[in-house]
Amino acid sequence: MNYEVIEKRRRDLEGKVAIITGGASGIGAATAKLFVQNGAKVIVADIQDERGESLCKTLGEYDDAVRVSYVHCDVSSEADVKNVVDTAMSKYGKLDIMYCNAGVLGGLDLTIQSCDVGLLKRVMEVNVYGAFLGAKHAARVMIPAKTGVILFTASTATVVAGEGPHAYTASKHAVYGLMRNLNVELGPHGIRVNCVSPGAVLTPLLNNSLKIGNGVTEKILNVAMSKGGVSLLDPEEVARAAVFLSSDGAMSVSGLNFIVDKGGNTGKTNMS
Ligand code: NAD
Repeated sequence: MNYEVIEKRRRDLEGKVAIITGGASGIGAATAKLFVQNGAKVIVADIQDERGESLCKTLGEYDDAVRVSYVHCDVSSEADVKNVVDTAMSKYGKLDIMYCNAGVLGGLDLTIQSCDVGLLKRVMEVNVYGAFLGAKHAARVMIPAKTGVILFTASTATVVAGEGPHAYTASKHAVYGLMRNLNVELGPHGIRVNCVSPGAVLTPLLNNSLKIGNGVTEKILNVAMSKGGVSLLDPEEVARAAVFLSSDGAMSVSGLNFIVDKGGNTGKTNMS
């Protein structure tokens, strides 16, 4: 399929304003590109400033530079998250899409005995506080507007059990639960809330973990994707789901854990 042709024909996010946390790399960066190509104005929020700024410079070439900009934002800091939402409001006067995507892995090779609380705390701070604070400050401006989309990147770890990584899996279940509750609370305000849950995606997050060795590679590949030969995902495959869930085409879709894993895990769970 020639996706470039589709991109030229369809602009599913025309006029929308979006924040993408963790937007400097991997799934977030691929989503920033597709959002811009689909007509959205995008704020990339991350802690990798050089990488984020360089991405925005490149993406600016798809359209005019005003469409995409970078804001430093550590998602575990409420002041930073508040600032990025306020930036969207002062720059564009609205926020249509809050994509809480920033995340960290870690602890792939650790048993419950060897996983210390420091790692658990760090994973929770980024993956859970980040999702919570992103949703909190997005809702602050979306409720008065009576419209909006909040999207989280969870994981197939929400639907497939494995030997680990325990902190990461616990954090993604927390994100999933948060999404379900927020869907109940925010639905009446016209705000849709969903998770996109990828299987194993080729990004720095996964690559760095695969370098650990000690059988970790086999473990993550067995846990995160099916043993049936399903290949690793490209970040753009997840980004396409994010575009759909953020678009008006998904206007009736809310409270959903949207699995993107080429079918690798969906047959193995009764939770999706
Ligand atoms: P990535 O490492 O390429 O991107 C993650 C981004 O988050 C990076 O740019 C990083 O700088 C940013 N980040 C980390 N801590 C941050 C913080 N405190 N504040 C702001 N930004 C921060 O990895 P990715 O695979 O693209 O991960 C994106 C999301 O997808 C994560 O939530 C991850 O858990 C999830 N996910 C990834 C996979 C996979 O196999 N790669 C599978 C399922 C879910």
